[in-house]
Amino acid sequence: MSTTIYSLIEAAYQGDWSPLIEESKKAPGKHWAEDTRCSNQDIDIFVPPGDGPREDPDLVKHSLGTALNRLRNLCASCPLAVAARCLVESLRDDDEFGIRAGLLASERSALRAAWQQRVNEDAVRGALQGCTTALSKVERDTVIARFATDPSLEPAAVARGLGVTHEYLLKLVRRHRKKSESRPAATLPAGSADAA
Ligand code: SF4
Repeated sequence: MSTTIYSLIEAAYQGDWSPLIEESKKAPGKHWAEDTRCSNQDIDIFVPPGDGPREDPDLVKHSLGTALNRLRNLCASCPLAVAARCLVESLRDDDEFGIRAGLLASERSALRAAWQQRVNEDAVRGALQGCTTALSKVERDTVIARFATDPSLEPAAVARGLGVTHEYLLKLVRRHRKKSESRPAATLPAGSADAA
């Protein structure tokens, strides 16, 4: 079976984000958005009226009809790596509106929520070793938390992995520590001390 943007999206829905992310890396650099199906179009048409993160996608499709299908198909027919990059960028930026990789904004809501919760150990380890990659918010927080508690980690590598300056990394660590300190200490349930 050949790989399509929909098969990559389906794998992501099942919790396997690697195929989508790996495909997105095949459209590297700053100019990835030049070779797209939407580059010569009025960009407003990719934000259909009535579609949004809290709408029901079936109702949106029903109310907008075949014109919407044409638009979604055009979008999904972008070169595979470009569509994957477009979708990953929109997830990373938590971009709520507009069609991306053939998916309506209303269809992307569940995927956006799943992206925010995913923790890919390879991505976290890679960022700690200085590899720049697309990280979810949870992964980013995990990288900062590990760096804050592991003095053996190299600050320059972690800053590179997060795509921030050394100074900003230290600021993130201070913020993380402050947040951790302000959390109420866990209280042991009654009787647990006796049991120890
Ligand atoms: S996937 Fe759709 S929105 Fe993204 S670049 Fe291609 S045509 Fe444009």
